[in-house]
Amino acid sequence: MTDIIQLLPDHVANQIAAGEVVQRPASVVKELLENAIDAGSTEVKLIIKDAGKTLVQVIDNGKGMSVTDARLSFERHATSKIRSAEDLFHLQTKGFRGEALASIAAIAHVELKTKRPEDELGTAIEIEGSKVKSQEVSVTPTGTSVSVKNLFFNIPARRNFLKSDTVELRHITDEFHRVALAHPNLAFAFYHNGSELFNLPSENYRQRVVHIFGSKTNEKLVPVDEDTEVLKISGFVGKPEYAKKTRSEQFFFVNQRFIKSAYLNHAISAAFEGLLKDGYHASYFLNLAVDPKTIDINIHPTKTEIKFDDEHTLYAILRSAVKHSLGQFNIAPILDFEHQSQLNTPYNYKDKVGKAPTIEVDRSFNPFSSDQSSSKSTAFKSDYKKAPAANWESLYVGLESKGNNASNDFAEVTFESNPETATLFSDDAIASNKTTFQLQNKYIVSTLKSGMLIIDQSRAHQRILYENFLKLITVKEATSQQLLFPLELSITPNECLIIKHMQTDLEHAGFVFSEIREETLIVTGVPVEVPESEVSIIIEQLLSDVETNVPDASFSTADLLAKSMAKSLAIKNGQQLNSQEQEHLVNSLFACKEPSVSPTNRPTFITMDARSIEKKFI
Ligand code: ADP
Ligand code: MG
Repeated sequence: MTDIIQLLPDHVANQIAAGEVVQRPASVVKELLENAIDAGSTEVKLIIKDAGKTLVQVIDNGKGMSVTDARLSFERHATSKIRSAEDLFHLQTKGFRGEALASIAAIAHVELKTKRPEDELGTAIEIEGSKVKSQEVSVTPTGTSVSVKNLFFNIPARRNFLKSDTVELRHITDEFHRVALAHPNLAFAFYHNGSELFNLPSENYRQRVVHIFGSKTNEKLVPVDEDTEVLKISGFVGKPEYAKKTRSEQFFFVNQRFIKSAYLNHAISAAFEGLLKDGYHASYFLNLAVDPKTIDINIHPTKTEIKFDDEHTLYAILRSAVKHSLGQFNIAPILDFEHQSQLNTPYNYKDKVGKAPTIEVDRSFNPFSSDQSSSKSTAFKSDYKKAPAANWESLYVGLESKGNNASNDFAEVTFESNPETATLFSDDAIASNKTTFQLQNKYIVSTLKSGMLIIDQSRAHQRILYENFLKLITVKEATSQQLLFPLELSITPNECLIIKHMQTDLEHAGFVFSEIREETLIVTGVPVEVPESEVSIIIEQLLSDVETNVPDASFSTADLLAKSMAKSLAIKNGQQLNSQEQEHLVNSLFACKEPSVSPTNRPTFITMDARSIEKKFI
């Protein structure tokens, strides 16, 4: 029998390797930016077209390459960065595999221009699908420019697999953020289809964070600095009140390399324990410096994961450093969740006696008398209306009480300030033809001919609102209410892009914007269904939904928008409903096209037939 094993030709091996290194245009961006940094550049320019599908180009002013190196750089396992396995433990560079350029050249049209400072003339090389098309002497500035065109031109399956430009651009922006944050001392510029997205001068770390995430970020940063024998920590965590619903502002850099670590992330969550509301994530921008000997970055092909020798110690140091910072900046005691109910008081004080710092004790003042509590309720209610919408915290407080904490504040408010509800409620109890009742302020129970129906009130309401919004957006018939005062929201440059991208759908839904700038959004009109006090929450929720679930071809923005608004506006669990409201909810649910599932595909109700009930009695 003849032997059947053969060595793969280089260009095939390169294509296979490319599959690991290059998943999408953002992977090319990452590799090229890292090469530019390894080359000791001080200025790096990133230019892309069509979200990198047509062009990714990185121009640097680093040390360049000789003629021979320029040619060798495209060979697989050709690297100037390590010489022996031993070097892997002293890595000072981002790259070390010598695979990136070879892989990229296997699946794209690549042009390299490079010149060392000591040379008069540089080198230009063109490669297509691993084949060198030309190599020339070239007049070119010191440094290197690599252009990668028509990515995956020879692997159509891969090319078709790419997502919409919005999605691919987001991946690229993420990579850019990571590299730019890891190297604040280097200047970076980023252009997409001819327009400048970022232009970052050499600056300090705080300035870099603020430049990338918007000027409002400045006030939310709490410095973290810790210097121990095994670990140096520097950087910032975000104040708890600015926590986000997404993890989009969580950055760990180990020796200036962006990494993901669920374990270390947990250390931060532990430090924030009790300071964040459910579902919110702390922001952090932290640089960890450790001895390169104690880490192994070799375990993941795209190198965002890392193995530490002594994770437990790092965890403990990190947690206590962050805790210490939060404590030192007096954040922990103010926002202690345990004291949530007292949180309302400072806001009331702010409005009422904020301007009178004299201490005159009102001896009859009793915070626990019922009198006080009712005035608290009304103050609270009006606060809720009046609150400048940009004052997110107070809005959250409002939501909190309205939603989950029905047991304390809100229950009080409903009963005291709304006697009608109370009457209705007692009438109701007498009513004999009652067909529904509420269980634990969460479920609506109703009888069916065949047995029993249990509806999840929040999911059901989401379904109803979702179908309604979707209809309004698609038929473009939503009515808009003009806001009395235009609402100014601060946004990040990235959020600005998202809003611009969704603008048409948002307008069809009833939103009107008078300005969409990099850091400011001015809202002048909202859908009639949206209470003025909740506009900012809805927009924030929407941005966070888009960030976690970027719409692409298979997922229309209209759908996402409808889902997000439904989620924000739906009645929550814990909210008491009178029998009319209950019935209305049940009827509206069953008038829906798809009553049985919530917009996120979870069951809205369950039924229990008489027979299975009978069985329980056996
Ligand atoms: P690695 O970065 O892992 O060494 P690459 O394939 O990315 O592998 O690059 C191969 C080699 O080409 C590098 O080791 C470096 O010597 C050279 N090189 C790549 N990009 C640049 C650049 N922008 N400036 C100078 N040299 C570069
Ligand atoms: Mg490299």
